[in-house]
Amino acid sequence: MNVRDSEIIWEMLREAGYERAGALEEADVALFNTCSVRQHAEDRVIGNIRKLACRKKKNPGFKIGVLGCMGRRHGEMLFKEYPFLDLVMGPSDIYSVREMLDKVFAGEEKVIAVRKDKRPREKVRNKYWDGGVSAFVNIMYGCNNYCSYCIVPYVRGREVSRPKNDIIDEIKELVDRGAREITLLGQNVNSYGRGLTNKIKFPELLEEVNKIEGVSRIRFTTSHPKDADKSLFRAMKDLDKVSENLHLPLQSGSNKMLDLMNRKYTYEEYLDKINLLKSMVPDVGLSTDIIVGFPSEKEKDYEATEKALEAIGYNSAFIFKYSPRSPAVSACLVDDVSEEEKKARNNELLAVQKKVSYKKNKELIGSRQEVLVEKVSRMSKDEMTGRTRNNVSCVFPGDESLIGQMIEVEIIGNSTYTLKGACT
Ligand code: SAH
Ligand code: SF4
Repeated sequence: MNVRDSEIIWEMLREAGYERAGALEEADVALFNTCSVRQHAEDRVIGNIRKLACRKKKNPGFKIGVLGCMGRRHGEMLFKEYPFLDLVMGPSDIYSVREMLDKVFAGEEKVIAVRKDKRPREKVRNKYWDGGVSAFVNIMYGCNNYCSYCIVPYVRGREVSRPKNDIIDEIKELVDRGAREITLLGQNVNSYGRGLTNKIKFPELLEEVNKIEGVSRIRFTTSHPKDADKSLFRAMKDLDKVSENLHLPLQSGSNKMLDLMNRKYTYEEYLDKINLLKSMVPDVGLSTDIIVGFPSEKEKDYEATEKALEAIGYNSAFIFKYSPRSPAVSACLVDDVSEEEKKARNNELLAVQKKVSYKKNKELIGSRQEVLVEKVSRMSKDEMTGRTRNNVSCVFPGDESLIGQMIEVEIIGNSTYTLKGACT
């Protein structure tokens, strides 16, 4: 979502005559589009802006801005803590970045825009897009779920869906410019359509996107387990362009933790959905998010998560150490799992997932997979990379003329995260 927001910000600046600096030393302004979801992300931004503060001492004309979720979360406080900042903006304010920068360059000090209401309708289409094969398209903004650990509803606001026609027009424009794979973005895509005058549900949106000529593959992220249901799985099964791949964050295998996290499902309910999906879409590729060290997580809660990863067999999992995010509700709970324990659980779970990922990839040896060719491999100029329908990365012999094409490869080898293919 931040990558897409950065594209929009950059497009607006480019239209206003800005150019990307070749190196930081040549820049007149540095803008950080920030994430607040974990403390670690914020710490990295602070480290970077502190480094730039020295440069500003030598060259006061150089401007620094903090945009995105940190802007919304800390607001004016950022100017107090870091007086060398010139601009602070929230994620819903990105459409006014030109006007805000005009003020900064006109000499106004401490320019701030952090709106508290919903994100306005996107005013720009996907004019800025780096090209390539894949493109992100926002279908909704914000979130209403209030998982107890999560800052997103506070910094990105309440959920609001974009009208279907805006989305379809944007995708058609992208396809005209060469995009083949479209990833639909939302914090909880399964609640897409709520609040729109023209009633529509997410599987119906998938059906509409599936009809667009030139689109080869459709992905989407993220689905909330409480809302992912049979109608979504049926769309994945029936719509030829929708990839057989679901990112379904579990967060924990322990019902006690899930309850404290306000996730609104039990592990058993989650598993039932996964089993239904597997029965309808046997080749489905699965991925998930896990938080370790949530307040009061005991060894047996952690073990339940470990068992869940083994039982479900995800192709990949993003594993995070819990980080209190005030004003998210869980920040009031005592952060009682020590940093060492969080680190140990994190590492142990990574090792478990590594084995599972390797095994899942190995099972594909001998199969034929449809791969959308993306780019030249980083390892060898004689090899290309792409992803299978179920979102596993695949390397195979080929040249640049294949980029954007859908090809069939035979899987002849694997590593933990990648498949090796042969064009036969
Ligand atoms: N809307 C998406 C993405 C939310 S943020 C979803 O619901 O899945 C991405 C992931 O960051 C979450 O799934 C969660 O695993 C992790 N995360 C969010 N807040 C966190 C926190 N306070 N500490 C550690 N990880 C967190
Ligand atoms: Fe955060 Fe939960 Fe919303 Fe995802 S669904 S953005 S984890 S509050």
